[in-house]
Amino acid sequence: MPGFELFGDKERKQVNDVLDSGVLMRYGFDGMRNGHWKALELEKVLADKMQVKHAQLVSSGTAALTVALASAGVGAGDEVIMPTFTFVASFESILAIGAVPILVDVDDTLALSPQAVENAITERTKVVMPVHMCGSMADLKALKAICDTHNLLLLEDACQAIGGTFENKPLGSYGDLGCFSFDYVKTVTCGEGGAVVTNNDSYKSNADHYSDHGHDHVGKDRGAETHPFLGYNYRISELHAAVGLAQIERLDEFLAIQKKNYTILREALQDLPNVQFRRVPEGGEESYAFLSFFLPDTVTAKKAHTELGKAGVDACFYWYDNNWHYYREWQHLIEKKSLGKLPTEVHQQLPDYSKSDFSASDQWVGRTISCLIKLGWSQDDVKERAQKMADVISKL
Ligand SMILES: *Cc1c(COP(=O)(O)O)cnc(C)c1O
Repeated sequence: MPGFELFGDKERKQVNDVLDSGVLMRYGFDGMRNGHWKALELEKVLADKMQVKHAQLVSSGTAALTVALASAGVGAGDEVIMPTFTFVASFESILAIGAVPILVDVDDTLALSPQAVENAITERTKVVMPVHMCGSMADLKALKAICDTHNLLLLEDACQAIGGTFENKPLGSYGDLGCFSFDYVKTVTCGEGGAVVTNNDSYKSNADHYSDHGHDHVGKDRGAETHPFLGYNYRISELHAAVGLAQIERLDEFLAIQKKNYTILREALQDLPNVQFRRVPEGGEESYAFLSFFLPDTVTAKKAHTELGKAGVDACFYWYDNNWHYYREWQHLIEKKSLGKLPTEVHQQLPDYSKSDFSASDQWVGRTISCLIKLGWSQDDVKERAQKMADVISKL
């Protein structure tokens, strides 16, 4: 997955353009910038690649989720449905705007279970936020039907699945809003960065203003711009956007490498009786950023993780015990621990997660092993890895 593995002259050339002009800010300084508008250019390329009308770059994927929610008018006390298996950014972004994260089970797609979503809807629900974990997607068709019936927004977190598709649409473009991260370990990296994509003109305009202190970006002089509503600073810098511009042009190249390496590993495991691959919903194509599979039970999966490590097969994850990606270790959320007081709505409405039953998620995540697909592996590396994985798993 990480784009930093293949880093070189194209990235350097883009960054040098910015350094030569000395304009590190994405707005203004028109006379000094030698025609370089890296953030603006990356927004155009990204919107084009994701087949949407608009892209708004921001400072991180977490910022993208926050800005996406804010741009659609989600605020204090609104409930946002999110999965138990994700990155902490999901609830961070929801809490940042005073909304309430409602955790919901995942199924054998390792993403939101449509049935569990349906069961979690209340009169306060505003958004369903599926997270396309580890390169593959939630059942977007089923989720969209639920959102249409209940008049909810569908916000896709495609931070780990850039380049995947559903019904031939790029992941992130299927819902009302989609978010990407370009942090240091993502398929396309800027160092730090993120983006919101949408076909909705007013969400785009809101995201543009909200991510820059509410500036309306009308007129020539930044000092004279007005601020129709409160915002924050979630801007990306020209330096980061420059790196992203070089990387996004290489997305198809990265995806082809991921698919090739993934396929070799998958073929080595597919005939093993104890391996069941995660389900990709009908109509979906993965980005091949990870290969994820279920073993028969939690004990076997834990053992597999240990044995793969011993055999020198790195970059395989057992998310069930992971501090960042699964609800079991989110003590700070469960105990509602922030530095200051949480907004009243959040404090009152946040369910007591320590009493929640997520055994359906545990059934899947407890049995899951996910292996990162790297871009820098040689063919020999991949074949050797495939052999070692098959050896370890067939002996469990
Ligand atoms: C990386 C990631 C994010 C957040 O991105 P940052 O750019 O690191 O803030 C959000 N969601 C998922 C699923 C991620 O993997």
